[in-house]
Amino acid sequence: MALRANLPAPIAIDGPAASGKSTIGHALAEEFGYAFLDTGLMYRAFTLAALRAGISADDVPACTRLADEINMRVDAHETTSIFLGHEDVTEWLRSPEVEANVSAYSAIPEVRSALVRQQRAIAREGPAVLAGRDIGTVVLPGAPLKFYLDASEEARAQRRAAQAGGWGAPQRSRDARRDIVGRDVVDSSRAASPLRAAPDAIVLDTTELTLEEVVAFVLDKVRCAAS
Ligand code: C5P
Repeated sequence: MALRANLPAPIAIDGPAASGKSTIGHALAEEFGYAFLDTGLMYRAFTLAALRAGISADDVPACTRLADEINMRVDAHETTSIFLGHEDVTEWLRSPEVEANVSAYSAIPEVRSALVRQQRAIAREGPAVLAGRDIGTVVLPGAPLKFYLDASEEARAQRRAAQAGGWGAPQRSRDARRDIVGRDVVDSSRAASPLRAAPDAIVLDTTELTLEEVVAFVLDKVRCAAS
């Protein structure tokens, strides 16, 4: 009980594509009762809405209008679900089309500021873990506990391909690697809130670690911060 009362909040988890942020965020939510907000899903939902509306990422005024008008509801519990209007779009957010376009829309500052406002409001509602690219640096720079998860491109591509399951593992792994590298380049070189580790983040390279080891490490840090 004392542990729950002293839980560090909010917690920031940043890192490149497929570095395990969602898995770890979910594990923290399950273990300690945090709400888990996967902010990548919000950028993905914006991308889906823009693609459906036929708005290109080059059309910044139209993207800005969409960011002002979009009716995006975020349900952050142990996992994150996203609604556009009344439609639960969560299952569409990992489609190849969204995946291929999300980094271009995410680089637009006006899109980011609208979503960051919503992310901060959710973090104020109660103890929350937020995962993304700029949580520790921009969204919640005062967060008392920050993690930056990293892993080699190869390890991340293999994990992503294994998650997808089914036949054709080598081809899936090559496709995953291409997507991951492409998004990392855009996400870390953009002017607005590039992917960076906050100076006070705990940086963990998970290349040689099992998922269980990463979960144990992060849970332990949270327990230490709470005791
Ligand atoms: O985390 P995930 O890989 O689902 O994120 C999808 C994309 O959303 C990223 O490649 C990045 O372009 C964008 N993103 C972002 N800032 C965040 C979270 C995600 O720019 N905080």
